[in-house]
Amino acid sequence: MKTFVYIDHFKGEIQPASWEAIGLGKSLGPVSAVVFGSGVDAITKAAFENGADEVFVAEDTALADYRAEAYASTLSALVSAQSPDLVLFPTTARTRELAAMTAVDLNTGVLTDISGLEANGDQLVATRPIYEGKVLEKTVCFGKPVLATIRGRAFPKLEPDASHTGTPTKVEVKAEALTKVEGYSASESAVNLGDAGVIVSGGRGVSNNPSLQPPTGMEEKQAELWRAQQGFALVTDLANVLGGAVGASRAAVDAGYIPYSHQVGQTGKVVTPDLYIACGISGAIQHLVGMRNAKLIVAINKDSDAPIFKQARYGVVGDLFQIVPALTEAFRKKLGK
Ligand SMILES: Cc1cc2nc3c(=O)[nH]c(=O)nc-3n(C[C@H](O)[C@H](O)[C@H](O)COP(=O)(O)OP(=O)(O)OC[C@H]3O[C@@H](n4cnc5c(N)ncnc54)[C@H](O)[C@@H]3O)c2cc1C
Repeated sequence: MKTFVYIDHFKGEIQPASWEAIGLGKSLGPVSAVVFGSGVDAITKAAFENGADEVFVAEDTALADYRAEAYASTLSALVSAQSPDLVLFPTTARTRELAAMTAVDLNTGVLTDISGLEANGDQLVATRPIYEGKVLEKTVCFGKPVLATIRGRAFPKLEPDASHTGTPTKVEVKAEALTKVEGYSASESAVNLGDAGVIVSGGRGVSNNPSLQPPTGMEEKQAELWRAQQGFALVTDLANVLGGAVGASRAAVDAGYIPYSHQVGQTGKVVTPDLYIACGISGAIQHLVGMRNAKLIVAINKDSDAPIFKQARYGVVGDLFQIVPALTEAFRKKLGK
């Protein structure tokens, strides 16, 4: 099986799931990486180091910024010429669009956000979570080639090998784009929970520390937000020591403790970190569907009957305002930070 892997990057920062896609492709046969952009030597080198047998590079200033028209026409032309059996993409906002447009050009289909892939004869059977992860669907694509976007952290990547190099193959650029990117500005959705190996999340409990005295004259709601800030500062400290990201329950987001971009759950992000630490979160089903596939769940909650403990491998019954800083300190020492 011949597999192409599209390496997704933004301003030189590569989406880690691109390497996971190479790992998946290599389990099926040889892999060619596809790199588009301008000034992409470092990305090309990294693609070889991460296991690509061959790297196709479309390099042009017209491809400096991702734009669907130019990228999709270049990719469709390359795939038509090279006829791979499978084209894999890490799942991102860009690749959802790119894969869909390329599939239209090639008259095939896209399997989106897959978490498993196996060959059954000459057919590829993908597994993908649906209905908020409650059901796993097996699905096949009858078009050729099969295009699939893979869920981050669902497949292992290969160990990078700095000695693995090669000569990239240049690709003709089809850059008749009708749009131009004028610039970028950061938005609050910059939080990348999907790629985080560790997530420390806070819930409504982060504001529950009556012994914290807010500055005098503060109204009740302001005092609650002030307490929540102190609670989330502890959650953030722990996340920083563990090199992780900060998540939240919807109750914390709705109460204004933290922006929506941190929300985990049915109406937030679905995450699969190696470690998920839930602080002051009760474990409502709408939260659980967003994090229950984490490899290891730790819960800290005052209430020993909180449903989150049923999902957690380790549970600490107690006040997060005491336990979280103690954990941070212990990890700081252990990790020498
Ligand atoms: C359609 C729909 C979609 C939803 N989508 C989402 C979603 O995407 N994500 C989501 O999270 N929720 C979602 N919800 C809301 C969900 O039902 C819960 O209301 C929410 O998850 C509760 O958040 P919480 O656990 O932080 O708050 P609570 O349920 O109020 O729990 C707070 C917990 O903190 C503990 N606690 C309090 N003080 C301390 C302390 N000092 N130390 C330790 N523990 C303490 C308490 O014992 C309690 O268990 C959705 C609801 C609906 C109806």
